Amino acid sequence: MVNKDNFRNIDPYVPGDQPDFADMVKLNTNENPYPPAPAVLKAAEEFSAGRLKLYPPTDGGALRRELAAYHGISPENVFVGVGSDDVLAVIFQTCFNSGRKLFFPEISYSFYEVWAELYRVPYCKIPLKADFTIDPDDYIGKENGGIVIANPNAPTSMAMAAADIEKIIAANPDNVVVIDEAYVDFGGESVLELTGKYDNLIVVRTFSKSRSMAGLRIGYAIASKELIQAISDVKNSINSYTMNFPSIEVGKASLAEEEYFRTTIAKILKTRERLVKELSDLGFVTFPSSANFIFTTHKSVPAKTIFEELRKKHIFVRFFNKPLINNYLRITVGTDEEVDKLIAGLKEILNK
Ligand code: PMP
Repeated sequence: MVNKDNFRNIDPYVPGDQPDFADMVKLNTNENPYPPAPAVLKAAEEFSAGRLKLYPPTDGGALRRELAAYHGISPENVFVGVGSDDVLAVIFQTCFNSGRKLFFPEISYSFYEVWAELYRVPYCKIPLKADFTIDPDDYIGKENGGIVIANPNAPTSMAMAAADIEKIIAANPDNVVVIDEAYVDFGGESVLELTGKYDNLIVVRTFSKSRSMAGLRIGYAIASKELIQAISDVKNSINSYTMNFPSIEVGKASLAEEEYFRTTIAKILKTRERLVKELSDLGFVTFPSSANFIFTTHKSVPAKTIFEELRKKHIFVRFFNKPLINNYLRITVGTDEEVDKLIAGLKEILNK
């Protein structure tokens, strides 16, 4: 019998369910309810499978170049990966080896703690303020081995001002500060431009949310040339050919459809406003969201009960059975039709 004591012992990250029912309303993993841009669908159809006999470029090739052009920077400042999870995992392996504690908010994307454990990075979870916002002063003047902050934060949905983030970056010049901007297109203030000013800043983005491409798996980081080189060196030492040809071609196509991108986001923001209002009428209290999801609690009915009752109706939202947040629901902003079904389901559950 193999001795399992020799295995890496890890409390794994638990992704949101991917249920598969024809009648389901899926508002549990912050996917975009709208399809990818028409140019993406066209590029996917036109992709020539004959190219698959070759290895793809190790650096993301044309996708990296187009991303650089899109943001008005050099390709040397861009690192592409298989979703931002892949990008963040490589950053954790590359940048946090000082032996000092990595700082990240106590309530945030739960993968940060999993990577810290997996890669044996010591860490400190910094409590949020009572109103679930992040206090920038907690990250200033304190010895640390790096900082990771999601902005907007998840699952709270709330954003920090770019000026506050800049204070944190400026106060930690020796350490890498990672700002995970997975949801920034839905209302947050990006610090992407600060990558030209601070060589300790890495901004991470994804195609999964605002570009409706969670299934393709594309994420990227923007940082100084030196940091990008260091991250690339680690990635190439694990798996050089991470970005496959379809991802490169199809991902590139989405960058050309700015109008579709903006229109889709505007629709989601409009539905978000309506969702918050209708939830309020049903007795929910919701944090001000800058993301494509909301974080909400009901005045009298426990979140777990609502989550379970909704699930029986094939309406899926996210419930975290964790201290501090176990009376909240995270609900992805879907289409208006999906929100109608959610509200109708909630009215039945709450007898309204
Ligand atoms: N960062 C945050 C804050 C997220 O919520 C997610 C989505 N689970 C990710 C990163 C990863 O997204 P992806 O790997 O699809 O780019």
